[in-house]
Amino acid sequence: MIVGFKNLLIAPKSLSPSSISLFRACPQKFKLSYIDKIKEPPTWHTVLGSFVHEVLEHLYKQDPKDRNQEIVKVIATDRWSNHGWAEKVNKLAEKPDTIAGFKRSAFQAMINLWELEDPTTTILEGQEVEVLTEIDGVALKGYIDRIALDADGKVVISDYKTGKVPDSKYVSDGEKWFQLIAYALMLKEAHQKTTSTLELYYLSKKTKHSVAVTQEHLVNAQQVIVRTRKSIDESCTSGEFICNVTNLCNWCYYKKIDICPAHRN
Ligand code: SF4
Repeated sequence: MIVGFKNLLIAPKSLSPSSISLFRACPQKFKLSYIDKIKEPPTWHTVLGSFVHEVLEHLYKQDPKDRNQEIVKVIATDRWSNHGWAEKVNKLAEKPDTIAGFKRSAFQAMINLWELEDPTTTILEGQEVEVLTEIDGVALKGYIDRIALDADGKVVISDYKTGKVPDSKYVSDGEKWFQLIAYALMLKEAHQKTTSTLELYYLSKKTKHSVAVTQEHLVNAQQVIVRTRKSIDESCTSGEFICNVTNLCNWCYYKKIDICPAHRN
């Protein structure tokens, strides 16, 4: 049988740790986002997270002695007024709080950083570091929030979060750490750098979770990457992307706009 061109589904050439996580959470959601390219518009919470990331990135570009909460206010005000953030927040379709509430929540998350580390003594090797590599023939691309070095010169990968700390009843450790372990694997492959530690900064909750990277973590991540690439390619050939229907569908954009096949009508 000759397959018409209109039926061909083109898989992305390279994957990222987040696109792999999305496919594992729900193949249909991956298809709608990465193959049909129907992108979920920014939300209040995603914009708040991106704003906090950007301000902290600029905080760490300051001389260590100048990293204080006053300078956070100065940077946040500048980014808000002169770099498009006021417009981004104002044009959001749904605003669960006031603009003053947005600023308050974002600023609180930023200054909670001082509860977790002393920015005047924290030395970073890189921020928003792009990593491009291949793992067993699978092309991968991603950006690491921040990289530091430990006392032995090994890499510490950190990621800022502004949402809730995931409940271990619903999110396994494997899922929680998969993206950062994948970055550790990518850094090893691309730059021969060994990662000792992964850190998740839950800024709104003043909580930091850390884990030491093991060989087992890296092997598992490698297998997940290869397996997921194979499943994506097979789904593109068959045209079948499973709908993983769970309670999380109630927060899914594709259910909301009525295009998920599992919930249509
Ligand atoms: S509504 Fe549920 S099944 Fe449908 S795409 Fe979203 S997460 Fe997947």
